Amino acid sequence: MERVNLLDFDLDGLTAYCAELGEKRFRAVQLFRWIHQKGEARFDRMSDLARSLRDKLELVAEVRPLSILSEHASADGTIKWLYDVGQGNAIEAVFIPEDDRGTLCISSQAGCAVGCRFCSTGHQGFSRNLSTGEIVAQLWQTEHHLRQRLALPAGQRAITNVVMMGMGEPLQNYSALLPALRTMLDDHGYGLSRRRVTVSTSGVVPMIERLRDDCPVALAVSLHAPTDALRDQLVPLNRKYPLAELLRSCSAYLDKAPRDFITFEYCMLEGVNDQPEHAAALVALVTGRGGAVRVPCKFNLIPFNPFPASGLRRSSKEQVMSFARILQDAGIVTTVRKTRGDDIDAACGQLAGEVQDRTNAQQRMTRSVIRVVPTSAAS
Ligand code: SF4
Repeated sequence: MERVNLLDFDLDGLTAYCAELGEKRFRAVQLFRWIHQKGEARFDRMSDLARSLRDKLELVAEVRPLSILSEHASADGTIKWLYDVGQGNAIEAVFIPEDDRGTLCISSQAGCAVGCRFCSTGHQGFSRNLSTGEIVAQLWQTEHHLRQRLALPAGQRAITNVVMMGMGEPLQNYSALLPALRTMLDDHGYGLSRRRVTVSTSGVVPMIERLRDDCPVALAVSLHAPTDALRDQLVPLNRKYPLAELLRSCSAYLDKAPRDFITFEYCMLEGVNDQPEHAAALVALVTGRGGAVRVPCKFNLIPFNPFPASGLRRSSKEQVMSFARILQDAGIVTTVRKTRGDDIDAACGQLAGEVQDRTNAQQRMTRSVIRVVPTSAAS
Protein backbone atom coordinates (compact mmCIF):
# COMPACT_ATOMS: atom_id res chain seq x y z
CA MET A 1 0.00 0.00 0.00
CA GLU A 2 1.39 3.41 -0.96
CA ARG A 3 1.98 5.67 1.99
CA VAL A 4 0.08 8.93 2.24
CA ASN A 5 2.32 11.90 1.47
CA LEU A 6 1.65 14.49 4.18
CA LEU A 7 2.98 17.25 1.92
CA ASP A 8 -0.22 16.80 -0.10
CA PHE A 9 -2.27 18.43 2.68
CA ASP A 10 -2.90 22.00 3.73
CA LEU A 11 -3.80 22.32 7.41
CA ASP A 12 -7.50 21.60 6.84
CA GLY A 13 -6.59 18.56 4.77
CA LEU A 14 -4.18 17.33 7.44
CA THR A 15 -6.83 17.89 10.09
CA ALA A 16 -9.27 15.74 8.12
CA TYR A 17 -6.61 13.08 7.67
CA CYS A 18 -5.76 13.09 11.38
CA ALA A 19 -9.48 12.79 12.17
CA GLU A 20 -9.51 9.59 10.07
CA LEU A 21 -6.74 8.35 12.34
CA GLY A 22 -8.83 9.27 15.39
CA GLU A 23 -6.77 12.36 16.27
CA LYS A 24 -7.87 15.88 17.20
CA ARG A 25 -7.10 19.08 15.29
CA PHE A 26 -4.39 20.23 17.69
CA ARG A 27 -2.41 17.09 16.78
CA ALA A 28 -2.68 18.06 13.12
CA VAL A 29 -1.37 21.53 13.97
CA GLN A 30 1.60 20.01 15.82
CA LEU A 31 2.35 17.70 12.93
CA PHE A 32 2.00 20.50 10.36
CA ARG A 33 4.42 22.69 12.33
CA TRP A 34 6.99 19.89 12.64
CA ILE A 35 6.90 19.32 8.92
CA HIS A 36 6.78 22.85 7.55
CA GLN A 37 8.30 25.03 10.26
CA LYS A 38 11.01 22.65 11.44
CA GLY A 39 11.52 20.68 8.25
CA GLU A 40 11.25 17.37 10.08
CA ALA A 41 10.36 14.29 8.04
CA ARG A 42 10.97 11.62 10.67
CA PHE A 43 8.01 10.91 12.92
CA ASP A 44 10.22 9.43 15.66
CA ARG A 45 11.86 12.84 16.08
CA MET A 46 8.57 14.71 16.54
CA SER A 47 9.03 14.65 20.27
CA ASP A 48 5.81 16.30 21.44
CA LEU A 49 3.53 14.13 19.30
CA ALA A 50 1.78 11.35 21.18
CA ARG A 51 3.66 8.09 20.71
CA SER A 52 0.47 6.40 19.56
CA LEU A 53 0.15 8.89 16.68
CA ARG A 54 3.82 8.56 15.75
CA ASP A 55 3.41 4.78 15.61
CA LYS A 56 0.34 5.08 13.39
CA LEU A 57 2.05 7.52 11.05
CA GLU A 58 5.10 5.25 10.72
CA LEU A 59 2.82 2.60 9.25
CA VAL A 60 0.76 4.64 6.79
CA ALA A 61 2.32 8.03 6.06
CA GLU A 62 5.48 9.77 4.96
CA VAL A 63 6.88 13.20 4.14
CA ARG A 64 8.05 12.56 0.60
CA PRO A 65 10.93 14.64 -0.75
CA LEU A 66 11.67 15.07 -4.44
CA SER A 67 14.77 13.37 -5.70
CA ILE A 68 17.39 15.80 -6.87
CA LEU A 69 18.97 15.15 -10.26
CA SER A 70 21.30 18.11 -10.20
CA GLU A 71 22.08 21.39 -8.50
CA HIS A 72 23.77 24.32 -10.21
CA ALA A 73 24.92 27.43 -8.39
CA SER A 74 25.48 30.60 -10.35
CA ALA A 75 28.24 33.10 -9.70
CA ASP A 76 25.50 35.61 -8.74
CA GLY A 77 24.17 33.33 -5.94
CA THR A 78 21.21 31.95 -7.88
CA ILE A 79 20.78 28.21 -7.34
CA LYS A 80 18.82 25.91 -9.61
CA TRP A 81 17.66 22.41 -8.72
CA LEU A 82 16.50 19.85 -11.24
CA TYR A 83 14.13 17.28 -9.73
CA ASP A 84 13.10 13.89 -11.02
CA VAL A 85 9.31 13.52 -10.90
CA GLY A 86 9.26 10.06 -12.48
CA GLN A 87 8.69 8.56 -15.91
CA GLY A 88 11.46 10.60 -17.43
CA ASN A 89 10.03 13.93 -16.32
CA ALA A 90 12.03 16.64 -14.63
CA ILE A 91 11.03 19.95 -13.10
CA GLU A 92 13.01 22.83 -11.70
CA ALA A 93 13.04 25.27 -8.84
CA VAL A 94 15.26 28.34 -8.74
CA PHE A 95 16.38 30.30 -5.67
CA ILE A 96 17.22 33.95 -6.30
CA PRO A 97 18.88 35.73 -3.36
CA GLU A 98 18.78 39.51 -3.08
CA ASP A 99 19.83 41.87 -0.30
CA ASP A 100 16.39 42.12 1.28
CA ARG A 101 14.71 38.90 0.19
CA GLY A 102 15.11 35.34 -0.99
CA THR A 103 12.77 34.35 -3.80
CA LEU A 104 11.98 30.80 -4.84
CA CYS A 105 10.57 30.20 -8.30
CA ILE A 106 8.47 27.03 -8.28
CA SER A 107 7.09 24.73 -10.98
CA SER A 108 3.45 23.62 -11.10
CA GLN A 109 3.48 21.13 -13.99
CA ALA A 110 5.95 18.85 -15.77
CA GLY A 111 6.01 20.65 -19.10
CA CYS A 112 3.23 22.99 -20.16
CA ALA A 113 0.30 22.73 -22.53
CA VAL A 114 -0.04 26.44 -23.32
CA GLY A 115 2.80 26.48 -25.84
CA CYS A 116 3.90 30.12 -25.76
CA ARG A 117 6.18 30.71 -28.72
CA PHE A 118 9.03 32.29 -26.78
CA CYS A 119 9.11 29.70 -23.98
CA SER A 120 11.40 26.71 -24.05
CA THR A 121 9.17 24.84 -21.56
CA GLY A 122 6.21 25.36 -23.88
CA HIS A 123 8.19 23.86 -26.76
CA GLN A 124 8.79 20.69 -24.76
CA GLY A 125 5.08 19.88 -24.51
CA PHE A 126 3.01 18.78 -21.53
CA SER A 127 3.57 15.65 -19.44
CA ARG A 128 1.45 15.94 -16.32
CA ASN A 129 0.25 18.07 -13.45
CA LEU A 130 2.30 18.06 -10.27
CA SER A 131 0.58 17.00 -7.06
CA THR A 132 0.24 19.43 -4.17
CA GLY A 133 3.00 17.48 -2.43
CA GLU A 134 5.34 17.93 -5.39
CA ILE A 135 4.66 21.66 -5.51
CA VAL A 136 5.11 22.10 -1.76
CA ALA A 137 8.18 19.83 -1.66
CA GLN A 138 10.09 22.36 -3.78
CA LEU A 139 9.60 24.94 -1.01
CA TRP A 140 9.94 22.51 1.90
CA GLN A 141 13.23 21.05 0.68
CA THR A 142 14.76 24.33 -0.38
CA GLU A 143 13.80 26.28 2.73
CA HIS A 144 15.20 23.73 5.17
CA HIS A 145 18.23 22.93 3.06
CA LEU A 146 19.14 26.62 2.77
CA ARG A 147 18.61 27.30 6.46
CA GLN A 148 21.31 24.74 7.19
CA ARG A 149 23.57 25.69 4.32
CA LEU A 150 23.45 29.39 5.15
CA ALA A 151 23.59 28.65 8.91
CA LEU A 152 20.63 30.93 9.52
CA PRO A 153 19.75 31.70 13.14
CA ALA A 154 16.63 29.98 14.51
CA GLY A 155 13.46 31.60 13.26
CA GLN A 156 15.04 33.25 10.22
CA ARG A 157 13.63 32.22 6.88
CA ALA A 158 15.72 31.62 3.80
CA ILE A 159 12.77 32.08 1.45
CA THR A 160 10.68 35.21 1.90
CA ASN A 161 8.93 35.23 -1.48
CA VAL A 162 7.51 32.56 -3.73
CA VAL A 163 6.70 33.03 -7.39
CA MET A 164 4.75 30.38 -9.30
CA MET A 165 6.71 31.12 -12.46
CA GLY A 166 8.60 27.91 -13.04
CA MET A 167 7.51 25.21 -15.45
CA GLY A 168 3.81 25.03 -16.17
CA GLU A 169 0.65 27.12 -16.10
CA PRO A 170 -0.37 27.07 -12.40
CA LEU A 171 -3.99 27.93 -13.10
CA GLN A 172 -4.31 24.81 -15.27
CA ASN A 173 -3.44 22.78 -12.16
CA TYR A 174 -5.75 24.61 -9.81
CA SER A 175 -6.86 21.78 -7.52
CA ALA A 176 -3.23 21.03 -6.59
CA LEU A 177 -2.21 24.68 -6.51
CA LEU A 178 -4.79 25.84 -4.00
CA PRO A 179 -3.73 23.69 -0.98
CA ALA A 180 -0.10 24.48 -1.85
CA LEU A 181 -0.79 28.22 -1.68
CA ARG A 182 -2.68 27.80 1.58
CA THR A 183 0.27 25.93 3.09
CA MET A 184 2.62 28.74 2.04
CA LEU A 185 0.37 31.35 3.68
CA ASP A 186 -0.55 29.41 6.82
CA ASP A 187 0.99 30.78 10.02
CA HIS A 188 1.56 27.19 11.14
CA GLY A 189 3.28 26.54 7.80
CA TYR A 190 5.55 29.08 6.09
CA GLY A 191 3.60 32.16 7.16
CA LEU A 192 4.31 34.05 3.93
CA SER A 193 2.24 37.17 3.34
CA ARG A 194 -0.17 37.19 0.39
CA ARG A 195 1.84 40.04 -1.09
CA ARG A 196 4.91 37.83 -1.21
CA VAL A 197 3.34 34.90 -2.99
CA THR A 198 2.78 35.48 -6.69
CA VAL A 199 0.87 33.35 -9.15
CA SER A 200 1.89 33.99 -12.72
CA THR A 201 -0.59 33.05 -15.42
CA SER A 202 -0.81 33.26 -19.18
CA GLY A 203 -4.45 34.28 -18.71
CA VAL A 204 -6.77 31.43 -17.70
CA VAL A 205 -9.68 33.80 -17.11
CA PRO A 206 -12.14 31.55 -15.21
CA MET A 207 -9.40 30.46 -12.84
CA ILE A 208 -8.25 34.03 -12.19
CA GLU A 209 -11.80 34.59 -10.97
CA ARG A 210 -11.69 31.51 -8.74
CA LEU A 211 -8.30 32.43 -7.30
CA ARG A 212 -9.67 35.88 -6.41
CA ASP A 213 -12.43 34.25 -4.36
CA ASP A 214 -10.49 31.29 -2.93
CA CYS A 215 -7.02 32.61 -2.14
CA PRO A 216 -6.12 36.04 -3.51
CA VAL A 217 -2.36 36.37 -3.71
CA ALA A 218 -0.30 38.70 -5.90
CA LEU A 219 -1.04 38.17 -9.59
CA ALA A 220 1.30 38.40 -12.56
CA VAL A 221 -0.06 38.02 -16.08
CA SER A 222 2.06 37.11 -19.09
CA LEU A 223 0.83 39.71 -21.54
CA HIS A 224 3.53 39.90 -24.24
CA ALA A 225 1.38 41.69 -26.86
CA PRO A 226 -0.96 44.68 -27.04
CA THR A 227 -3.38 43.26 -29.61
CA ASP A 228 -5.32 40.04 -30.00
CA ALA A 229 -3.84 39.48 -33.45
CA LEU A 230 -0.29 39.42 -32.09
CA ARG A 231 -1.10 37.74 -28.77
CA ASP A 232 -2.92 34.93 -30.59
CA GLN A 233 0.44 34.08 -32.17
CA LEU A 234 2.60 34.42 -29.06
CA VAL A 235 0.29 33.05 -26.35
CA PRO A 236 -2.14 30.60 -27.99
CA LEU A 237 -4.45 30.69 -24.96
CA ASN A 238 -5.43 34.18 -26.11
CA ARG A 239 -7.67 32.62 -28.76
CA LYS A 240 -9.80 31.26 -25.95
CA TYR A 241 -9.55 34.21 -23.55
CA PRO A 242 -8.90 37.37 -25.57
CA LEU A 243 -7.44 40.56 -24.16
CA ALA A 244 -10.70 42.37 -23.31
CA GLU A 245 -11.86 39.39 -21.24
CA LEU A 246 -8.45 39.00 -19.63
CA LEU A 247 -8.27 42.66 -18.62
CA ARG A 248 -11.78 42.53 -17.21
CA SER A 249 -10.79 39.59 -15.01
CA CYS A 250 -7.60 41.41 -13.93
CA SER A 251 -9.62 44.46 -12.94
CA ALA A 252 -12.06 42.32 -10.95
CA TYR A 253 -9.15 40.49 -9.30
CA LEU A 254 -7.94 43.76 -7.83
CA ASP A 255 -11.09 43.99 -5.70
CA LYS A 256 -9.61 41.33 -3.41
CA ALA A 257 -5.91 41.30 -4.32
CA PRO A 258 -3.27 41.99 -1.66
CA ARG A 259 -1.65 44.54 -3.98
CA ASP A 260 -3.41 47.35 -5.80
CA PHE A 261 -1.90 46.53 -9.16
CA ILE A 262 -1.42 43.62 -11.53
CA THR A 263 2.08 42.88 -12.79
CA PHE A 264 2.18 42.42 -16.54
CA GLU A 265 5.10 40.39 -17.81
CA TYR A 266 6.27 41.31 -21.29
CA CYS A 267 8.97 39.30 -23.04
CA MET A 268 10.87 41.58 -25.44
CA LEU A 269 11.20 40.00 -28.89
CA GLU A 270 13.18 41.80 -31.53
CA GLY A 271 11.00 43.13 -34.33
CA VAL A 272 7.95 41.24 -33.05
CA ASN A 273 6.51 43.15 -30.09
CA ASP A 274 9.21 45.70 -29.19
CA GLN A 275 8.43 48.64 -31.46
CA PRO A 276 7.27 52.09 -30.26
CA GLU A 277 3.80 51.46 -31.71
CA HIS A 278 3.52 48.32 -29.55
CA ALA A 279 4.37 50.36 -26.44
CA ALA A 280 1.83 53.04 -27.39
CA ALA A 281 -0.83 50.38 -27.98
CA LEU A 282 -0.06 48.85 -24.57
CA VAL A 283 -0.53 52.22 -22.90
CA ALA A 284 -3.89 52.64 -24.66
CA LEU A 285 -4.88 49.10 -23.71
CA VAL A 286 -4.22 49.21 -19.97
CA THR A 287 -5.46 52.77 -19.50
CA GLY A 288 -8.76 51.84 -21.09
CA ARG A 289 -8.33 53.99 -24.18
CA GLY A 290 -8.26 50.87 -26.32
CA GLY A 291 -11.86 50.11 -25.35
CA ALA A 292 -10.83 47.54 -22.72
CA VAL A 293 -11.28 48.13 -19.01
CA ARG A 294 -8.57 50.19 -17.25
CA VAL A 295 -6.20 48.08 -15.13
CA PRO A 296 -3.82 49.61 -12.55
CA CYS A 297 -0.60 47.80 -13.34
CA LYS A 298 3.14 47.61 -13.41
CA PHE A 299 5.11 46.28 -16.35
CA ASN A 300 8.06 43.96 -16.08
CA LEU A 301 9.99 43.82 -19.34
CA ILE A 302 11.83 40.53 -19.73
CA PRO A 303 14.86 40.13 -21.94
CA PHE A 304 14.15 37.07 -24.09
CA ASN A 305 16.41 34.06 -23.59
CA PRO A 306 16.91 32.70 -27.08
CA PHE A 307 16.71 28.97 -27.78
CA PRO A 308 17.17 27.46 -31.22
CA ALA A 309 13.63 26.17 -31.90
CA SER A 310 12.01 29.55 -31.24
CA GLY A 311 13.27 31.38 -34.30
CA LEU A 312 13.12 34.56 -32.19
CA ARG A 313 15.76 37.04 -31.07
CA ARG A 314 16.30 39.14 -27.96
CA SER A 315 15.57 42.86 -28.30
CA SER A 316 18.60 45.10 -27.91
CA LYS A 317 19.17 46.91 -24.62
CA GLU A 318 18.49 50.24 -26.33
CA GLN A 319 15.18 48.95 -27.71
CA VAL A 320 14.13 47.69 -24.29
CA MET A 321 15.04 51.00 -22.64
CA SER A 322 13.21 53.14 -25.19
CA PHE A 323 10.16 50.83 -24.93
CA ALA A 324 10.28 51.21 -21.14
CA ARG A 325 10.49 55.00 -21.46
CA ILE A 326 7.24 55.15 -23.46
CA LEU A 327 5.42 53.25 -20.72
CA GLN A 328 7.05 55.29 -17.96
CA ASP A 329 6.20 58.58 -19.70
CA ALA A 330 2.58 57.46 -19.63
CA GLY A 331 2.85 57.09 -15.83
CA ILE A 332 3.13 53.29 -15.77
CA VAL A 333 5.74 51.88 -13.39
CA THR A 334 8.01 49.78 -15.58
CA THR A 335 10.99 47.67 -14.64
CA VAL A 336 13.37 45.64 -16.73
CA ARG A 337 14.00 42.22 -15.27
CA LYS A 338 17.58 41.66 -14.26
CA THR A 339 18.81 38.45 -15.77
CA ARG A 340 19.86 36.18 -12.93
CA GLY A 341 21.49 32.81 -13.18
CA ASP A 342 22.35 33.26 -16.87
CA ASP A 343 25.35 31.00 -16.41
CA ILE A 344 23.19 28.09 -15.19
CA ASP A 345 20.20 28.32 -17.57
CA ALA A 346 18.02 29.61 -14.73
CA ALA A 347 16.65 32.64 -16.51
CA CYS A 348 13.00 32.96 -17.45
CA GLY A 349 11.82 30.51 -20.09
CA GLN A 350 14.91 28.34 -19.74
CA LEU A 351 13.69 26.09 -17.00
CA ALA A 352 14.52 22.47 -17.68
CA GLY A 353 15.70 23.70 -21.06
CA GLU A 354 18.54 21.23 -20.99
CA VAL A 355 16.24 18.26 -20.48
CA GLN A 356 15.45 16.92 -23.88
CA ASP A 357 12.09 17.18 -25.64
CA ARG A 358 9.36 15.89 -23.32
CA THR A 359 7.70 14.01 -26.14
CA ASN A 360 10.66 11.61 -25.91
CA ALA A 361 9.97 11.01 -22.24
CA GLN A 362 8.91 7.40 -22.61
CA GLN A 363 11.95 6.57 -24.67
CA ARG A 364 14.19 8.16 -22.06
CA MET A 365 12.43 6.29 -19.30
CA THR A 366 13.12 2.93 -20.86
CA ARG A 367 16.78 3.89 -20.90
CA SER A 368 16.39 5.06 -17.28
CA VAL A 369 18.35 8.17 -18.09
CA ILE A 370 17.45 11.80 -17.98
CA ARG A 371 20.05 13.53 -20.02
CA VAL A 372 21.41 16.62 -18.38
CA VAL A 373 23.90 18.55 -20.42
CA PRO A 374 26.53 20.22 -18.21
CA THR A 375 25.95 23.97 -18.23
CA SER A 376 29.01 26.07 -18.02
CA ALA A 377 27.43 29.04 -19.77
CA ALA A 378 23.79 29.74 -20.65
CA SER A 379 11.06 30.32 -17.63
S1 SF4 B 1 5.37 30.94 -20.66
FE1 SF4 B 1 4.35 29.83 -18.99
S2 SF4 B 1 2.31 29.36 -19.84
FE2 SF4 B 1 3.59 29.89 -21.60
S3 SF4 B 1 4.38 27.90 -22.32
FE3 SF4 B 1 5.90 28.74 -20.88
S4 SF4 B 1 5.39 27.81 -18.92
FE4 SF4 B 1 3.58 27.57 -20.25
